[in-house]
Amino acid sequence: MINIAIDGPAGAGKSTIARKAASELGFIYIDTGALYRTVGVAAMRQNKLGSDSEIESVLTDELSVELRFSDGIQKMYLNGEDVSEAIRTPEASMAASKVSAVPAVRAYLFDLQKRIAKENNCLMDGRDIGTVVLPDADVKIFLTASPEARAKRRYKELVEKGSDVKYEDVLSDMIKRDYDDSHRAIAPLKQAEDAILVDTSDIGLEESIALIIRTIKENI
Ligand code: C5P
Repeated sequence: MINIAIDGPAGAGKSTIARKAASELGFIYIDTGALYRTVGVAAMRQNKLGSDSEIESVLTDELSVELRFSDGIQKMYLNGEDVSEAIRTPEASMAASKVSAVPAVRAYLFDLQKRIAKENNCLMDGRDIGTVVLPDADVKIFLTASPEARAKRRYKELVEKGSDVKYEDVLSDMIKRDYDDSHRAIAPLKQAEDAILVDTSDIGLEESIALIIRTIKENI
């Protein structure tokens, strides 16, 4: 199976770019952030985001985190409920970041990610795909952009969805999440040594997609 790893900070356009590139290449696209978001929502709903041991206590046999595909689009199910929308709120983003620093949560989601990669030609995006989950991926890309460029895009996305957010809050959440993601003890966000760096601060979406597809095709 061919596996492509795309890592990078929040808002670099990873999911949009990776989804389009995967469909062009005929691969399935796996958004691993959605897995952490689903566990985050589970912890949030149970009011268990206070400490690592509280978060760990969410990972019982009762918890079911499932990824299903509907018309090629990844949907997330939490205990049988479709939470694909619920995982996209700013609160769910912070909850995801929080639970993702807990080793037991990473171990819980590791096997699921490995299994999917073993069974499918896939393009997987996340923070630690090239470094931890798929260290032998055929192509690794580290996709980034300046915090301001990323916050601007995320802000626009949220406003278009009807969310009443402030740009300054989106930017400060983004900077905090970047910091937490790259400073956590386990599987921090960092570029794999053999990853190709792509910076999309100054290029538009279409150009970024074309660049990623070209980079993958040249390196596969
Ligand atoms: O990519 P997305 O913004 O949806 O990810 C949400 C959070 O999940 C990130 O801030 C990060 O803390 C965590 N995450 C992770 N490892 C991944 C994917 C996401 O720790 N492979």
